[in-house]
Amino acid sequence: MSAHRGPRLVLLGKQGAGKGTQAERLAAHFRMQHLSTGQLFRDSAAAGVPAGLEAKEYMDRGELVPDKIVVAVVAERFANPAEVDPGFVLDGFPRTENQAIELDGILGERGLDVVVDIDVPREVVLDRLAARNREDDTEDGIRRRLELYESETKPLVDFYRERRLLVTIDGVGEEDDVHRRVLAAIDARFDPLRADSA
Ligand code: AMP
Repeated sequence: MSAHRGPRLVLLGKQGAGKGTQAERLAAHFRMQHLSTGQLFRDSAAAGVPAGLEAKEYMDRGELVPDKIVVAVVAERFANPAEVDPGFVLDGFPRTENQAIELDGILGERGLDVVVDIDVPREVVLDRLAARNREDDTEDGIRRRLELYESETKPLVDFYRERRLLVTIDGVGEEDDVHRRVLAAIDARFDPLRADSA
């Protein structure tokens, strides 16, 4: 019997679109890693790791952590085949076109399988963020992160559409319903048997 291979996924979407929640559920479903660069930075800042503390200065202002730091963290994780081979779901990375190009280089030939854009209107994410209780969810921080999403991250929708990897799903509604939509979109595009022989 061949080894278990899950899909290689990226989730795109505004803050509050539900990327973290959906990424966790996908990781459980496919028995693979959920990698959130934001969570990695929060954990390493809490542990007093210098790169994490440096990242936190940007995060607290709602700014993006410089590509060099983020890419180094992801490259280090993915240097271990055990992190990549079972499949993975990336949440919050890439966030810039440069990061997407770097990710291609890190992954090599097989690359990504599916990029899911979780689409939620601005008013809905603002309501959801108001109910969240995270240190960087200040009014200014939220406004700045939405601005940066539009200018830096949204261009990735076209980037991945051109590469025929993109699927957009409606992220409004119950968590279970969104999960079913995301799974259906992945199942329609990812063939585990083909991934196994790759
Ligand atoms: P998140 O947990 O995805 O909402 O990320 C929280 C914060 O971490 C962001 O507002 C950024 O400051 C930083 N961050 C996380 N991922 C990235 C990334 N790929 N590029 C730049 N900054 C990031």
